[in-house]
Amino acid sequence: MLKVAYNMKPLRFVDAHIHLSDEEYAEKIKEIILEAKNNKVVALVSNSMNLETSIKSLELAERYNGIVYAAMGIHPWSVNALTEEELQQTTELIIKQRGNKALIAIGEVGLDYKYEKIWEKQLMVFDEMLRLAEKLNLPAIIHSRGTTAQIVDMIPSYSLKRILLHWFSNPISILPKVIERGYYISEGPPTVYSNGIREVVKKVQLTNLLTETDGPVRYFKSPFYGKMTTPAFIPTVVDAIAEIKRISAKEAADQIATNFEDFFGVKINSMEDNA
Ligand SMILES: [Zn+2]
Repeated sequence: MLKVAYNMKPLRFVDAHIHLSDEEYAEKIKEIILEAKNNKVVALVSNSMNLETSIKSLELAERYNGIVYAAMGIHPWSVNALTEEELQQTTELIIKQRGNKALIAIGEVGLDYKYEKIWEKQLMVFDEMLRLAEKLNLPAIIHSRGTTAQIVDMIPSYSLKRILLHWFSNPISILPKVIERGYYISEGPPTVYSNGIREVVKKVQLTNLLTETDGPVRYFKSPFYGKMTTPAFIPTVVDAIAEIKRISAKEAADQIATNFEDFFGVKINSMEDNA
């Protein structure tokens, strides 16, 4: 049997943060997954907003086993409408998945300064979510708009080994601490056109970087403008990372896929396995 050299490994891309459970994708899941495969995107993490989308993410991960993985939890934007009962049901549902390989993270969870009127409730829910990650020994995928410094201060009081700060944008001054702690950062389409995000990518070592789309978010600029956000954007994001890091796109893609496996503790399939 021929041994395949390292550089002959098939190209593979990952989308560590997409909301496949979003209504906007409801009728399009099959096509999105097919299109992802055609673009060599071999692993997608379906993030959740609340109980309903947590159930949906889990269903998708079970149906599209080996390419879709679930992240379950309550997003800060869902906190206002959240009832005590829904919080409890979500927590119970997640705990029941202990050992279920479809569930690979708690997410999307976090704090958002835009909702400061419900700050106490946000803190309570975020605390509950981080305790779940702790309890199930799962990574946490964190939304930290305007709250990154506070979140970075909070995390050490939990026993969490794997933290992903999704769409990290600022403050840049906190990056050395984030990197030193071994947290991961995921960046998406703005890597191609935003100087701020390019600066973040430049400063974070490649071994701590992941790629994402945050679909169906759709206000990206050119070359994504006006298109439905799908994992097919990922190869363009990786090209931008490669350019910033002054390495080949293949090298960037390989390292990011390896990071995905290390961070989420899963072995992703190559296209051959997925065919
Ligand atoms: Zn998101």
